[in-house]
Amino acid sequence: MRTGTNHLFIPGPTNVPDDVRRAMNVAQEDQRGPDFGRFTLSILDDLKAVFRTTTGTVMLFPGSGTGAWEAAITNTLNPGDRVLMARHGQFSTLWAEMATRLGLTVDMVDLEWGAGTPVAEFGRRLAEDANGAIKAVFVTQNETATGVTSDVAGMRAAMDATGHKALLFVDGVSSIGSIDFRMDDWGVDLAVTGSQKGLMCPAGLGILGVSARAMEAAKVSTMRRAYFEFADMTATAKTGYFPYTPPTPLLHGLRCALDRINAEGLDNVIARHARLAEGVRRGVAAWGLSLCAEDAALQSNTVTAIRVPEGVDAREVIRIGFERYNASFGSGLSRLAGKVFRIGHLGDLNEGMCLTALSIAEMALAEAGADIILGSGVAAAQAWYVGPHPAAQRIAAE
Ligand code: PLP
Repeated sequence: MRTGTNHLFIPGPTNVPDDVRRAMNVAQEDQRGPDFGRFTLSILDDLKAVFRTTTGTVMLFPGSGTGAWEAAITNTLNPGDRVLMARHGQFSTLWAEMATRLGLTVDMVDLEWGAGTPVAEFGRRLAEDANGAIKAVFVTQNETATGVTSDVAGMRAAMDATGHKALLFVDGVSSIGSIDFRMDDWGVDLAVTGSQKGLMCPAGLGILGVSARAMEAAKVSTMRRAYFEFADMTATAKTGYFPYTPPTPLLHGLRCALDRINAEGLDNVIARHARLAEGVRRGVAAWGLSLCAEDAALQSNTVTAIRVPEGVDAREVIRIGFERYNASFGSGLSRLAGKVFRIGHLGDLNEGMCLTALSIAEMALAEAGADIILGSGVAAAQAWYVGPHPAAQRIAAE
């Protein structure tokens, strides 16, 4: 018998706020009814603000982030196209695998898991590609497996510096709506996310931002696609309808989640994620542990991947957290299994929730054999959250 709340500290699906959950508790309705189009259009409009685009088109596909990846590729590229990608974590690796399986020719840059997108190396390769053989550049803005945020603005600047015309694809699954993302300013052609992270809903929607240039590319792309056809989606979406049955309760949840984002203000949402993440990082530093993301400039504001000390199994930390303390932490994926555990801190959360995550993590770490002073991580994060207050100065000084 488990008592109390299960604390969900994974980097998605994230906690669904109560009002979003209630908003999804609706009777089934006619998705072709006269009022449904208006309802969907309001969602598409507000999503454009979240993607920070006025010139792009936002599309909602039943599916998840992976489906949105596939939609982005199959609508805008051609079989055999050369694309530039980097593998630096599980999600960038899976995206590259999908590109290969769909018949693209991937120019791969392999990096340590913990590195960011290699902007300078990509820039060098684009500069060498005078004939424009590379058709697209892929950036995983937030590598959820390693807690690394890549520099999309820098990638755009590097592309502009070479004058290269490749399309810019960005995986924003664990960043859009929580970390600064600017589709228009950064000239992003295909931006991809899902409903279950920064957008605080259950999984079930793959969400795309598509630039005008990518829409043009879609008109001549010859890759095979059917369900994820942009032309079918945009033909009906103009009036707010779908080419097939949409998950209507989930759309009501998304409407409510967007109302929450609008009420808080997107800039404030982003600032909150930065503040909460910094507290978590300070907690980890107080334990004397290091992050998978070694470059401080790339440390993610939505997920922190923590390396456990030699001799400690991160799987054990996660097991103890779950079985003894009813808390879920993210596991180390693939080659990071056993070496890393992750604290997800995105979506609907606050200081108290981050302190709970640190508090349970330090108990689980200690019980798994790590040399941790109980309370040290919590105190460091508290001092950060309290800010310039005598209480914080005292804790920090002791
Ligand atoms: N890309 C990133 C960065 C992710 O974190 C995830 C899932 O966690 C995906 C893609 C895949 O998305 P989904 O699980 O919604 O298909």
